[in-house]
Amino acid sequence: MELKKIDDLTAFCKRRGFVYPSGEIYGSLAGFWDFGPVGVELKNNIKREWWKFHVNSREDMAGIDGSIITNPKVWEASGHVGSFVDVMVVNRKTKEKTKVDKHELASLGKEWEVKGEFNPMFTTQVGPIKEESTLAYLRPETAQLIFINFKQVQENARLKLPFGIAQIGKAFRNEISPREFLFRSREFEQMEIEYFIAPNQKCPYMDEIKGIKIALLTEEVQKKNQTPKEISILEAFKKKIIKTDWIAYWLAQEYSWFLSLGAAPEKFRARQHTSEERSHYSSDTWDLEYEFPMGWRELQGFANRTDFDLKQHEKFSKKSMAIQDEEFGKVLPHVVCEPSLGVERAFLVFLLSAYEYDKKRENIVLHLDPKLAPYKAAIFPLVSKGEQFEIAREIYRELLEEFNVLFDKSGSIGRRYARNDEIGTPFCITIDEQTAKDKTVTIRERDTTKQIRVKNSELIETLRKLINGKLSFADAGKLNETRKR
Ligand code: ATP
Repeated sequence: MELKKIDDLTAFCKRRGFVYPSGEIYGSLAGFWDFGPVGVELKNNIKREWWKFHVNSREDMAGIDGSIITNPKVWEASGHVGSFVDVMVVNRKTKEKTKVDKHELASLGKEWEVKGEFNPMFTTQVGPIKEESTLAYLRPETAQLIFINFKQVQENARLKLPFGIAQIGKAFRNEISPREFLFRSREFEQMEIEYFIAPNQKCPYMDEIKGIKIALLTEEVQKKNQTPKEISILEAFKKKIIKTDWIAYWLAQEYSWFLSLGAAPEKFRARQHTSEERSHYSSDTWDLEYEFPMGWRELQGFANRTDFDLKQHEKFSKKSMAIQDEEFGKVLPHVVCEPSLGVERAFLVFLLSAYEYDKKRENIVLHLDPKLAPYKAAIFPLVSKGEQFEIAREIYRELLEEFNVLFDKSGSIGRRYARNDEIGTPFCITIDEQTAKDKTVTIRERDTTKQIRVKNSELIETLRKLINGKLSFADAGKLNETRKR
């Protein structure tokens, strides 16, 4: 049984140590969340997997970690000071506040009153003496830090076009109406890539996306109110539905990344921005959307930013942003695709895809991919002292050197299984009488509840392979028929 309401996920996350409302003992603060001991592990694992996939495993990518507060001129150049505005509307009857895009104003019903335009950037003062301090902003996106550093990064990492620069980090937006748990918060993290190409440079990686299909909600399908059809992303590009090869490529990459870590494919679709929504400089923009319990929502944006940002920084800083490229010489690159994803939105997707209430077990089971699971294994001694217990402690200490694992000695074994099912621990290791005799342990698999026996000496290697998907559970050891749950 999947989860029907986002509020149920909020309650579950609090109960199990994933996420708490921030400052709750003082009545909390809307739009701010703290990650608990289990949540921080899941969040870190998501970021690590993203970084591995997008940065460490690619030759054409380098990473940075920019500062949250930077020279405020950056935000003037990027347009955030002048034109980053949210329009606030309030429902006359329910008093519900929400933000709308300017282009949606004309289609709003009479029940909505327009309250005005607000810039969602948080401001602060830099310098301790108020009169001498400078007004600065908490960054509303990580992207600009990539643009302002891009020349230096290209030189240091010796990148040649096409190449990308990636960053994971906090962003802040004073949202009018933070809501839907982590989905719209005021402090969140982004995982962003700016992908630079020489003007009109073709994507050489299109073969890699062959066979990847997704439901496409084109501008036409939206305007005619039709249901989106599933189509191969490559074909959509060939038929000019997706106008840019790079957007097609990155859309496929990002969708594949989610699927490779266990997200449910039928919950995704790609939506084209309508001409009214698109920024003036963008010729084609797409969002990867996910069907959350509250409906279809943007998960990740794919904007074509052309050379807009680099030109703006040239104009404001009066410094050339052109680079010297091996093949193209002196060139001002274009960003045809900027995949930009919120960490918390990815966090929700993986939790929602994994969440199942198992009627037979009478507990929740989080079917998280082992790579994302907060704890890779839990170690259970059957007794709480003596030789068996000491062996269990020894195994625990050994495993800790390589994996984040839990030692759990309290409650019945059934209770311990249930507790670990709920936080997504893929493997539970039990140390019993037989362990002391023949130096073997049982491993129980979360998803099937099947158990195998493996030698202590092979435990680390077996776990490593199971976690990395290099070995199936059925092939990992002799199936144990006696103890079933
Ligand atoms: P929205 O229309 O939902 O406000 P946006 O189009 O303004 O989002 P972008 O500026 O494209 O969002 O930001 C890139 C990504 O950052 C989004 O796709 C989303 O994953 C994440 N993000 C943006 N705003 C928030 C927020 N308030 N809370 C959590 N994540 C966010």
